[in-house]
Amino acid sequence: MSDKVLILKREDFSYDIDSLHTLLERGFDLIWGKEKSLAKKILIKPNLLMEAETSSAITTHPNLIIALAKLLRRRGFSVFVADNPGGFGTNNSLRSIYRSLGLDKYPDLFTLLYNDRPPFKEGEFTFSWWAKGFEIVNLPKLKTHDLLGITAGVKNLYGLIPGVIKSKLHQKYPYPYEFAEIILKIYDLFTPKINILDGIVSLEGEGPAKKGIPRKRGLIIFSNSGLALDYTLAQLIGILPENLPHLKIALEREMIKEDLIEVYPQDWPKFKIRDFMPSSPSLIESIPKPLLKVLGKFLKFYPVIERRECKRCQLCLKVCPAKAIEVIREGLRINLNNCIGCMCCAEVCLYGAVRVKDSFLLKTIKKVYNLFSQKRDN
Ligand code: SF4
Ligand code: SF4
Repeated sequence: MSDKVLILKREDFSYDIDSLHTLLERGFDLIWGKEKSLAKKILIKPNLLMEAETSSAITTHPNLIIALAKLLRRRGFSVFVADNPGGFGTNNSLRSIYRSLGLDKYPDLFTLLYNDRPPFKEGEFTFSWWAKGFEIVNLPKLKTHDLLGITAGVKNLYGLIPGVIKSKLHQKYPYPYEFAEIILKIYDLFTPKINILDGIVSLEGEGPAKKGIPRKRGLIIFSNSGLALDYTLAQLIGILPENLPHLKIALEREMIKEDLIEVYPQDWPKFKIRDFMPSSPSLIESIPKPLLKVLGKFLKFYPVIERRECKRCQLCLKVCPAKAIEVIREGLRINLNNCIGCMCCAEVCLYGAVRVKDSFLLKTIKKVYNLFSQKRDN
């Protein structure tokens, strides 16, 4: 069976539930119209990284979850919603996230799940109990990511792993390509048949948390394959697929067969985004390899804690898998000698106090890139 990708555009960038419902119906029928093998119990897996305003574009928009649940209920499915947020991902923090997004107001539509049963092991990983026994509907958010370039169809499944274990895996596999291997293994274990990307408002630049910049893009992308979705998305946002670690590996292993991906509408390149703001890793990957060999050591980025914004809650210190964050008299400080660059600290900081600092050369390249992409867009 070929992989199908459908790109729909919302010109008004609206998250109105009724019109989203109509749009989802269209996508559903085009991609999964003849799908008879879906289990009756559906788990919607959004990206609920942290408690945040919907306008910050850090999470999948709750209205998309609600509209999808309505559609699935009407079609006779039982619907459940769950995710493992960043940090320790306790049930209390999950409850706060559900509440802050207003998801607790729809008990007739879906059941919100918690980590209130023991996790289970599959292969080398430990997953939340709710990762099995349901048909997973993957509902990622289009965001940049400071380790993998983007978080979309494949990376979203990392949230099937409980919070503390996620941090430990970051420590064990700190480099982009080894981390990409991990998310591909997880994708392989839990390959969702239904993937719907929320790109109506994306999070760009220093994503995937508070330091990212929300941009109105109007995109919703449907696919029966998370890999095909990411592959098409990369082209839409102007990143060569082979410059994203997980896609590079997937292409080398022929997990993606480009000629078997059907993208609709056929004139989909008209949706290309010319001024997408990539994260630092994507920008570095896009530099020609011979040049990168020479300049590589000058192209660095690392996390810093901005003292003025830091509330000294010490959450970053607690989740840092490398124990690289220290308390000093003036506040908190990252010891870069110990830092493994996983960016877990940036992902959990509710106050946006962890910033990615670029070296002088990387900052300059970013400025030039942004200038050119804006010009291209005009
Ligand atoms: S940087 Fe953020 S998470 Fe860390 S102590 Fe400061 S406010 Fe808390
Ligand atoms: S300081 Fe931040 S980026 Fe560095 S290892 Fe700790 S959590 Fe990861």
